[in-house]
Amino acid sequence: MSATLPGRVRTSAPGKYCEVIFELHEDDIDALQVRMAERLGVSRPAVSDMVQRMSTMGLVDVQDGRVALTPAGVEMAEQHVRRHRLAERLLVDVLGLGWAEAHELADSWQQVIDDRTEQAIDSLLGSPATCPHGNPIPGGSRSLAGADLGEVSPLAALAKGQRAQVVRVTERLEVEPGMLVELERAGLVPGTAVEVLSFGSGAMAVRASRDVLVVSTETAAAILVRAGDLVSLPVEPQ
Ligand SMILES: [Zn+2]
Repeated sequence: MSATLPGRVRTSAPGKYCEVIFELHEDDIDALQVRMAERLGVSRPAVSDMVQRMSTMGLVDVQDGRVALTPAGVEMAEQHVRRHRLAERLLVDVLGLGWAEAHELADSWQQVIDDRTEQAIDSLLGSPATCPHGNPIPGGSRSLAGADLGEVSPLAALAKGQRAQVVRVTERLEVEPGMLVELERAGLVPGTAVEVLSFGSGAMAVRASRDVLVVSTETAAAILVRAGDLVSLPVEPQ
């Protein structure tokens, strides 16, 4: 957006809203104002006011209650999402912080990242394609980030006894309180193997890299996996 000075940090509320709309679309969830209010932890009237403001600013279009980003809105969203996910990588890969706490800390870290710092973090980390949770880092020097995840399917779609590699824990779960902590504890993180043990009503038991875990079908639908050659992946508790 040209409304801010180049190189300056953009911490505006519209930016945060653009980020949330972008992430809802990424998870194939309609960006209804009620969903936005849930993710942002604000009231629906507050969302309604802001959406109206953003519409005037040319950042969003609203049709049938669904909020869509304009090209300018996408640009703003991508910058916020990129900085959030780069901050997560920095916190996990370089500073050695936990997978779960990195997500929360990145919310404040992203706000002090300007253009130069963003580039510096990106080159320090070797232009990573995804955040530690497997979500693609848009824009920057990466081309088609996320498009080359290959054939993936939801964990919920696997059959009993099937094994797969965890590829991505989608943003929907990143924002769910306590979820990342639980997944990290069990070792259900991108790059590790997972095996379906059994199905119950509305839930399934899986063996992750460190522990057996029962996840709801809804949660399992938001974890993307890839079946394939899993010989080298850890499935036994370490
Ligand atoms: Zn993440």
